[in-house]
Amino acid sequence: MDQKVNFLTVASHINWDEYFMLQAVMASFKSKDPNTKVGCVFVDDNNHQLSMGYNGQIAGIDETKTPWGNNRAVPLDQQKYAYVVHSEANAILHAKADLSHSRCYVTLFPCHECAKMIATLKVREVVFLSDKYSDSVENQIAKRIFDMSGVTYRELKLRHETVEQFTAYISAVIPK
Ligand SMILES: [Zn+2]
Repeated sequence: MDQKVNFLTVASHINWDEYFMLQAVMASFKSKDPNTKVGCVFVDDNNHQLSMGYNGQIAGIDETKTPWGNNRAVPLDQQKYAYVVHSEANAILHAKADLSHSRCYVTLFPCHECAKMIATLKVREVVFLSDKYSDSVENQIAKRIFDMSGVTYRELKLRHETVEQFTAYISAVIPK
């Protein structure tokens, strides 16, 4: 028998960008927000995950007493915006390691409040999946903050074959 029979040529289906963005997508799945689910993952230079988070209500409060709706026609105390903690803030608050000089993978481009924290932490790079609020003032302030503080940002497009392989894999491991 060929003594090299086990020396197979192998390759990972996904690259590091896709690996961490899919983790951010998975984190977003845990969000209860009916309109906007966001997840994020902070990663170090060795491609080790440092922290992750998703948008949710304040930890420990009675969530039945706070709103999830986004209708801005009612007073702020009746809107989710008064109570929801963003995914980036949750990941930063719960991090057990220093996030400075890390990369942040996030499913939605950060708002200006999260941008303040990301820039203050001296996060090196923000990689985002969606920038659907790019016309908003908050979004433009966030980009200004990043530009002024040297935080680079780039959009990641998940490859179609990666999404297909991921979907096929999930289907295969779930019992029928
Ligand atoms: Zn935010």
